[in-house]
Amino acid sequence: TVGAVALDCHGNLAAGTSTGGLTNKRFGRVGDTPIIGAGTYADNHSVAVSATGTGEMFIRTVAGFNTAARIKLQNMPLTEAADHTLAEIATIGGEGGLILLNAQGDYTMRFNTSGMFRGAIGNDGIAYTGVFSGAESLAA
Ligand code: ASP
Repeated sequence: TVGAVALDCHGNLAAGTSTGGLTNKRFGRVGDTPIIGAGTYADNHSVAVSATGTGEMFIRTVAGFNTAARIKLQNMPLTEAADHTLAEIATIGGEGGLILLNAQGDYTMRFNTSGMFRGAIGNDGIAYTGVFSGAESLAA
């Protein structure tokens, strides 16, 4: 899975996620990645979210939307909101990671797997993107 979150100079947030799905997935399976509100979500008034991991659990917890809602409605800091979502996913047997970016350019990249490739680039402190390829182990 590769995901990105972005902010433009007008304060617009965007999220995109691409995946081949889980290894040995059933024919016809639809994961969380293309489902807006599950693996991908953006709201200019909260955050852009892109996720990787056990898609079924991200769908069941409506992970992208609920992460944004925690920030928008409960004023939760980005990292706390992401960790809350990952903890909820862990309680039902899932694992993975999330990247979040808000309209102020604050971002966080959290995961409860053994590793998640990730990175951030900025434009004079205004815009950042994060990219990752998810759920692989960073053994070495
Ligand atoms: N979330 C993706 C899916 O369930 C898989 C992944 O991120 O590795 O299809």
